[in-house]
Formats: sequence, C-alpha cells, structure tokens
Amino acid sequence: MRYKIVPVTPLEQNCTLFWCESTRQAAVVDPGGDVARIVAALEAEQLTPTLILITHGHFDHAGGAAELATRYNIPIEGPHEADRFWIDGIADQGRKFGLAGGQTFTPDRWLGDGDTVAFGEVTLEVLHCPGHTPGHVVYYSRPDALLQVGDVLFQGSIGRTDFPQGNHADILASIRQKLFPLGDDIQFIPGHGPMSTLGDERQWNPFVGDGR
Ligand SMILES: [Zn+2]
Ligand SMILES: [Zn+2]
Repeated sequence: MRYKIVPVTPLEQNCTLFWCESTRQAAVVDPGGDVARIVAALEAEQLTPTLILITHGHFDHAGGAAELATRYNIPIEGPHEADRFWIDGIADQGRKFGLAGGQTFTPDRWLGDGDTVAFGEVTLEVLHCPGHTPGHVVYYSRPDALLQVGDVLFQGSIGRTDFPQGNHADILASIRQKLFPLGDDIQFIPGHGPMSTLGDERQWNPFVGDGR
C-alpha cells in the first residue's frame, strides 16, 4: 500500500489517500473539505477512489465526505456510531469556525473494534479509540506498520477531550491499551501536523509517554 497526505481546510487536516499498488484503487481518509484539492491529488496519481473512510465526526475530518461520495458514487464507512451526533451537526460545527460547505450524511457502514475495511487488494483493521470523540476509530495497515490515528495522538501531544462526550481517561486508555501495544516501530499519520512513531511517543510524549 502507498499513501499521500493532502492537507485540507484552514485547520490543515491531514486528509490521506491510501492506495493499492496493483489495482490503483484508493481509499480517501477524512476528506474534511477542499474537495477540489483531493480530486486533483487523486488524478495526479491516476487513482480510482472506491471508498471513503472517516476517523471521527468533526467537520474538518468529515465535512467534504458527502460531496466526494456523490462525485464518485462511492460508499462512506466509519466512524463508530457513537459519533452520529457529531456528523449530524457538521454544518453547525463549520459555521462556528466561519467555514461553509460542510455537509452531513449517514455513513453506508458504521464501524466497530475489530472490523476490517478493504479497497483493491488492501485490508485495513479498525480500532475503536474513544476519548477525543466517543466514536473515534483508527485505521491500521498491519503489513505496512502504518496507522491513520485522526485526532487521538499527535507528535508530542494528544487529542483534545474538552468537547461534548470527550473523555480524558478514555483517550489515555485508547493510546496505552490499543495503540502502544501494536509496537514501537509503527508509524502513524495524525489528523494534524507531522508523522511520528508509537515508540517515540511512548518515550517522549508529555501527555501519555512512559515518563508520565
Ligand atoms: Zn477532531
Ligand atoms: Zn481535527
């Protein structure tokens, strides 16, 4: 599997294209907005998008999903159904940030812990990682030792938990009990900012590292 990060929205959210090298079929993870930019990136790599994946219902991650799904006539999968209230409120969320254009939708499939999603010859594992939002999920490519973690974990930080139904104990448990055990060598793409590894965060992260 290969990948490319396409930052979208004024929040510089890391929309990610994952694709299967043999079929060039792609999954678009977290198309939060700037759909024209996402389409251009797909075309530049000559990819055929077949699936949209959502980590959680915040507008900067999910606001462009409906537009992209309609454009390509492809399904939206994820997040966990506990984020339904966030997705229902996408337009209101965007307005609070002065951003128009976010559209609500109902995913074709809600996801849960242990589910898998597939495009081309690639299969990703789904981990339910609540805390930042109650229905946040993370996508894991075991053969590539690569995670897309959305707003659960960042280089040197963790996701905010001061939103409705955010929970600090839950996000720590998600990181320590579900992500860190995958192994220090695992690379991750966060929802914002640069990539890192689970090992670096386990060692150095001031919110959730071993030094805490
Ligand atoms: Zn978020
Ligand atoms: Zn975000």
